[in-house]
Amino acid sequence: MIQSNYPLKNISTIGLGGICKEFICPTSINELLKIKFTKKKLFIGNGSNICFITDFYDGTIVSLKRMSKVISHDDKYIYCSSNISCTKIARYLFNNSISGFEYLYGIPGTIGGALFMNAGAFDKEILSHVHKIKLLDSNGDVYYQKGKDLNYSYRKSNINKSSIIIGVEFYNHTKIFDKKLLSSLDNKRKVSQPVNQLSCGCIFKNPPHKYASKLIEGAKLKGKRFGGIYISRKHSNYFINDGSGTFTDFLNLLDYVKRKVLSVYNIELKEEVILIK
Ligand SMILES: Cc1cc2nc3c(=O)[nH]c(=O)nc-3n(C[C@H](O)[C@H](O)[C@H](O)COP(=O)(O)OP(=O)(O)OC[C@H]3O[C@@H](n4cnc5c(N)ncnc54)[C@H](O)[C@@H]3O)c2cc1C
Repeated sequence: MIQSNYPLKNISTIGLGGICKEFICPTSINELLKIKFTKKKLFIGNGSNICFITDFYDGTIVSLKRMSKVISHDDKYIYCSSNISCTKIARYLFNNSISGFEYLYGIPGTIGGALFMNAGAFDKEILSHVHKIKLLDSNGDVYYQKGKDLNYSYRKSNINKSSIIIGVEFYNHTKIFDKKLLSSLDNKRKVSQPVNQLSCGCIFKNPPHKYASKLIEGAKLKGKRFGGIYISRKHSNYFINDGSGTFTDFLNLLDYVKRKVLSVYNIELKEEVILIK
């Protein structure tokens, strides 16, 4: 179903932006293949690492949330479709006494978005477990990218930006199962992050050997606010929308923080969040 003039705030967790020309949620690969894309297109997962900074996105946004959701495993591999949430796969693996993925619990995105971003937490990152990723290219052809051909680093990878991630096979190789790990990581997350507010996770990447949150705090920016967007007091690398924020408030705060940190520490902060015009 094609939805025209769809509100962008409904498809990103920070809830900003105007509308998009079309929002499409295919229910099958066949429907996905039939989409006639406008020149501009964007694939989204749960919108938890993106921020729309426009009144009108003049293109097609596609979400796979209505396609069937699949998770399965055997002794060697774990398969899941890209539209499964990180929390759901972590819970499934926990219930099957499979370890190594507990850190994904509580990341409010989909596996597709997590692979694209090389999401990680507690010193682990998702692309390190990949056996192969299933993708669909812009000609509608399915292909696989093997884990060993992935070139990745902190929140970065060589996954083709014009392909859509359909699913993934992870290695199932960690043998020791710690049944307390998932809840202890979940508690750590809840204690240190504003999990139930409108945000898009960490705004800035950590510069080498530094924490962006500490730099922001050191520059005395905790709680700093522009309009309806402010810096979380719980975690200084999070911008929170109090519900009345606009993307202009967001951009003003972003610019202010970057300038302040540069002047105090001579360090240029780089965005982790993907800004979409
Ligand atoms: C409260 C909170 C806590 C967070 N904690 C963490 C954390 O601990 N660690 C961490 O790494 N991140 C964290 N994040 C950020 C975010 O949740 C992750 O980056 C997540 O993996 C993004 O997934 P998503 O489905 O929301 O992707 P989206 O935000 O929808 O998209 C992100 C990027 O991936 C692309 N993409 C999404 N799906 C597909 C697909 N199927 N095919 C091709 N491209 C696709 C999009 O085009 C976009 O460029 C947090 C965010 C919030 C709000």
